[in-house]
Amino acid sequence: MKIDKSKHLFKQALHHIPGGVNSPVRAFKSVGGDPIFFESAKGAYLYDVDGNSYIDLVNSWGPMILGHRFQEAEDAIIEAVRKSTSFGAPSEAEVKMADLICAMIPSIEKVRMVNSGTEATMSAVRLARGFTGRDKIVKFEGNYHGHGDSFLIAAGSGAMTMGSPDSPGVTKGTAKDTLLAKYNDLSTVVKVVEENLGQIAAIIIEPVAGNMGCIAPPREFLVGLRDLCDKNNIILIFDEVMTGFRLSRGGAQELYDVIPDLTTLGKIIGGGMPVGAYGGKAEIMDYVSPSGPVYQAGTLAGNPVAMAAGYAVLSHLNANPEIYTKLEETTNEILIGLRASLEKYELDNTINQIGSMYTLFFTDQKVKDFESAKTCDTKKFGTYFRSMLEKGIYLAPSQFESLFLSAALGEEEIELIIKANDESLKQFSLVKV
Ligand SMILES: *Cc1c(COP(=O)(O)O)cnc(C)c1O
Repeated sequence: MKIDKSKHLFKQALHHIPGGVNSPVRAFKSVGGDPIFFESAKGAYLYDVDGNSYIDLVNSWGPMILGHRFQEAEDAIIEAVRKSTSFGAPSEAEVKMADLICAMIPSIEKVRMVNSGTEATMSAVRLARGFTGRDKIVKFEGNYHGHGDSFLIAAGSGAMTMGSPDSPGVTKGTAKDTLLAKYNDLSTVVKVVEENLGQIAAIIIEPVAGNMGCIAPPREFLVGLRDLCDKNNIILIFDEVMTGFRLSRGGAQELYDVIPDLTTLGKIIGGGMPVGAYGGKAEIMDYVSPSGPVYQAGTLAGNPVAMAAGYAVLSHLNANPEIYTKLEETTNEILIGLRASLEKYELDNTINQIGSMYTLFFTDQKVKDFESAKTCDTKKFGTYFRSMLEKGIYLAPSQFESLFLSAALGEEEIELIIKANDESLKQFSLVKV
């Protein structure tokens, strides 16, 4: 595979972009080699600057759930651009978007649009603090909620891959208000709450974790959190930036039937444009300015082009819920092939899957939290990743990520993925094949 142009661009990028990339998860630090530079994409495929094509299993970390350049979204974007790229004042698209989000996720009675998932979680936590008059929050080890200061404590994938779970630049003052609990272990949350009675504003969680690889908790864990929050007047925030509109029309909360007070959204909600949102109970959301005292604003928030893209994707998902069944079937087909290869070559592994998200972990342990995720053989993952890339399959460049499948994958692509998996895993075989 020729990747000369990518290599050249990366070298050039290093001159004026820190690490050559605008987000650390794009670097190939943990898998080896240099990142690929892309030129275009369509449906299930990515095309790089050297003319190579790849079946995309990352899909921009989730947003391209309907495949790249989904026609209705592309048309809506072009139509919006022709009217204005920004008003800095209200437009109808924002009203339609808010109505649709509230219809798809009934726990959201009011919603505020922002520009990224990071903004959504930062704002939701500020709101929870303002509403409760309390300072502390609880987060889970290995959960990622964007790069806001309060969240960069045991923050999963990007931070983990870089070997800097705690980032310099986050003050001790900020860090002391973030309490940590263990994912999938309610007793650790109960303990933290008991030790900080009356001081915790919110518990924030990825209801299905995707940032230490994919980990779907049992329902009782989320139900337990709900009860604990109710008993202690703590605001439960589901960070559904990744899972919202991915696991079902109504996200993880619909799938698990556990209802948070506030929900944060991002990724799919922008249809490939930079968008985030936070919403929930009207009583709490009315605390946001200008209706309430908690300040939060955005020059480009509710941007008309971004709203058009997001609305096109969400309304398609809303009108075609069978897409979720098909996505799961596609994932299952790929995993049947993958499991057969892993068995044939007698390789230690754990596969965690829910809907169209999955991670192949190179470990013999069950992966249910940050600690067990860290038992993975990341060197082996790097070799597997590069082999898949060579065969035209684009995986997330880290062991601690979930893959996100798109509805654009057809039988042909599924077969190619299964074949590439088999060929890439064969090299690790301990048995003669
Ligand atoms: C991606 C992600 C974020 C951050 O969103 P950005 O748009 O990258 O700022 C927050 N929370 C979760 C669960 C995410 O997966």
